[in-house]
Amino acid sequence: MRLFDPHIHMTSRTTDDYEAMAAAGVAALVEPAFWLGQPRTNVGSFLDYFDGLLGWEPFRASQFGIVHHCTIALNPKEANDPGLRRDVLEVLPRYLAKDGVVAVGEVGYDSVTPGEDEALAAQLELARAHGLPVMVHTPHRDKLAGTRRTLDVVREAGIDPADVIVDHNNELTVDLVRDAGCWAAFSIYPDTKMDEARMVRLLQEHGTERMLVNSAADWGRSDPLKVPKTAAAMREAGFDAAAIEQVVWTNPVEVYARSGRLELDAVATDRTATFAGNSVLRGERPA
Ligand SMILES: [Zn+2]
Repeated sequence: MRLFDPHIHMTSRTTDDYEAMAAAGVAALVEPAFWLGQPRTNVGSFLDYFDGLLGWEPFRASQFGIVHHCTIALNPKEANDPGLRRDVLEVLPRYLAKDGVVAVGEVGYDSVTPGEDEALAAQLELARAHGLPVMVHTPHRDKLAGTRRTLDVVREAGIDPADVIVDHNNELTVDLVRDAGCWAAFSIYPDTKMDEARMVRLLQEHGTERMLVNSAADWGRSDPLKVPKTAAAMREAGFDAAAIEQVVWTNPVEVYARSGRLELDAVATDRTATFAGNSVLRGERPA
């Protein structure tokens, strides 16, 4: 069974991770634009990062047989910098027109400030204008209120809920999100928040429709194999192959295909290939 990780920050990960993911069956992934763990100081830093998500990183993924797409946005945390907010929102349309971009994201709330409100509204409008799905991050503090507020703003934006993925859900928010007609995504982490066992119970209780599972792996403590591990936990709990496939392949394919840009043909793993003169082999000489 092919697996899809619909939210993983590969820029922060190693080639060991790519190797392990490919061996575990991950065939496709989506890398959302987010923050770097510390604030950026100028818009140029965003441009280089976005270019990397569209250039070097898909190349790197292809070397391990994994198809890479990305989502582009101003992330919630950095939306609080007025200068960056103005400058990044201005360059976004240029990036949202590009082929590898399958959604606007991650957008949403971090601390629920007026600056975040402004960036979220502007980016929902950009998603609508570009006919793209949107991936919305929900705040980790006071999640229920933050999710309610997020869904209100999405409703007011007049965007089709079938184009909206609401991420980082838990048992308290799943009904709200699906009743709104949106896709409910769950980030499976090693220590905190959702784990595989909780996710399996949630799927038993709420079914597999419009449910997504991701690792959200990044530069923090996280596990890029959480999608395969959740699939295995589902199998152990007695879910049939069709139900598992719906969660770890069909659902993410369906929602990101709404962009009209999801390209899932297997990639050629030619390790001697280069991108702008660079390869993943470093000093190693091709045979
Ligand atoms: Zn993320």
